[in-house]
Amino acid sequence: MNKEERKCVILGSGPAGYTAAIYASRAGLEPLLFEGNAPGGQITMTEQIDNFPGYPQGISGQGLMDDIKQQALRFNVESRAKLITKVDFSKRPFSLFTEEGDEISAQSVIISTGASARWLGIESERKFRGMGVSTCATCDGFFYRKKDVAVIGGGDTACSEALYLSSLCNKVYLVVRRNVLRATKAVQDMLMAKENIEIIWEHKPLEILGDNSGVTGLKLISSKGEETKEISVLGVFVAIGNIPNTEIFKSQLELDADGYIITKGKSSYTSVEGVFACGDVQDSTYKQAIVAAGSGAKAAIDCERFLTENPVK
Ligand code: NAP
Repeated sequence: MNKEERKCVILGSGPAGYTAAIYASRAGLEPLLFEGNAPGGQITMTEQIDNFPGYPQGISGQGLMDDIKQQALRFNVESRAKLITKVDFSKRPFSLFTEEGDEISAQSVIISTGASARWLGIESERKFRGMGVSTCATCDGFFYRKKDVAVIGGGDTACSEALYLSSLCNKVYLVVRRNVLRATKAVQDMLMAKENIEIIWEHKPLEILGDNSGVTGLKLISSKGEETKEISVLGVFVAIGNIPNTEIFKSQLELDADGYIITKGKSSYTSVEGVFACGDVQDSTYKQAIVAAGSGAKAAIDCERFLTENPVK
């Protein structure tokens, strides 16, 4: 088992983590960034991003993260394709442990572990995961060329997934549990203009139907529970929001009722001095790449000031 000492460790490799890394590196903190098990974060699943400033023609989520990472590497950020699975924030310097059991002793930690897709939680969803059930149209849409598919949800993610799939698939059903969409108006307008997207309002998935070959259909129940119906689809894309990746911090930091890390006031300070949080892991409201990037900058600035005022003796 190795042990090493660091001024600043950053957990997570999305827009928040890599922006924190750029700022921390430029401030001389020599940050070590752990990419985690989803390098680039959730945004890499987004096909087209048109609301991140600086890209007049838009850019893919993967392209955006490649650019931000390149910028971080220009400032000599050390990035490791590894996962931290255990932390001890009870005393400073803090201890972080990799999957392999290696220990990093850190004077400060910036958490930007983001969020992961939420699942419906029904048995058949588990059964057919990877056999027709997915949370990523960009990753798996290719398998459903000219086929019929369903997308579950009415937010920006679901609508963006439906739009992406509509250019590949024969027909896309969008299953929405209320009679309104949560998605932004620009996305709704694009959705409504697509002839091969049909919205099934006020329905929820009851069961994903299938056989040994994978998904064959979807059984829906009306939101009031009055009637059921079945649609014939080969793919089901679940896009019903996110849950924050805070499992390893549960006994260490103050979290809110939904599991998001609580930060103090306008700062990135968590309940433990020297541990900072930024990006979607502490943001249940905005969840935008540009907001995450901005909060990453704030966390690195907070961290630099903290280390100046509180050097480890
Ligand atoms: P979201 O905005 O929370 O929307 C989740 C959707 O899933 C809602 O329509 C919700 O219905 C529905 N839902 C939740 N639980 C469900 C269940 N058990 N069964 C059926 N439907 C369920 O999540 P999101 O779309 O992932 O977006 C998250 C954040 O990321 C948002 O702030 C969004 O603006 C942002 N985002 C932005 C972009 C972009 O700007 N390009 C792209 C993707 C995401 P109700 O409305 O009834 O709750």
